[in-house]
Amino acid sequence: MKNQNATPRVWSTIQATARSFSRRRFLGSLGIGGAAALFAPWGVSAFARMSPRSLATLDAALAAQAGGFTLPPLPYDYNALEPHIDEATMRLHHDKHHATYVGNINTALANYPALQGRDIVDLLYHINDMPEAIRTTIRNSGGGHLNHSIFWATMGPKGGGQPVGALATAINTAFGDFNTFKQRLTAAATAQFGSGWGWLVLDGNKQLQVISRPNQDAPVMEGLAALVGVDVWEHAYYLKYNNRRADYLAAWWNTVNWESVSKRYDQARGA
Ligand code: MN
Repeated sequence: MKNQNATPRVWSTIQATARSFSRRRFLGSLGIGGAAALFAPWGVSAFARMSPRSLATLDAALAAQAGGFTLPPLPYDYNALEPHIDEATMRLHHDKHHATYVGNINTALANYPALQGRDIVDLLYHINDMPEAIRTTIRNSGGGHLNHSIFWATMGPKGGGQPVGALATAINTAFGDFNTFKQRLTAAATAQFGSGWGWLVLDGNKQLQVISRPNQDAPVMEGLAALVGVDVWEHAYYLKYNNRRADYLAAWWNTVNWESVSKRYDQARGA
């Protein structure tokens, strides 16, 4: 993207401006959102940011270890999500695609010892401060590592259904009811052009939001806590569903481990 060359001062000014407008809810009405997206693709969000500390805590057990990142083992069998997600897809997705992201981020950091002491959430949260030579790799492969770590942890056998407790209440408050939320996230993931993810996130005002983001852009780059996300890269579904993303999305809902998502919600909101 052409704005990679913007100086840090310009970046921070753009971000501060965008956040300021966002807080006053002028973003949409003044068309600032579009302008900000053109000039500052990373880290600028229409939503309030969470603190880096709470975001790091949220994913500390998953992928947030510093330097020498490792592929987390799948927390269930490769065939555990059958018939919704097939064993061959899970093997390829976890053992090859995710492993490649881990390898790439480790290679990128090999010549940056100072960055090796920082965890993946920290690196992504401060993406605009990363050395330009490896910024894109951190964004793509670091984001890929974190996103997939969350993905595996929030699916499971005997998944699906609906959350209970505080998360259920929050979803009803934010979206009206669970089915409306389900439609919103499905629509966001369906409409994501090309590769990307649909997400349920918690913002810095502790509001639930449904978003979609391209490629491996991690919500944490915008200061958002990813609670659950659905991978809509073709590698996530093409073997079984071919081009039928809608069928894959309908099946994915049957894999969601709401207990895991609820724990993430409780942790993100500081409960
Ligand atoms: Mn993937």
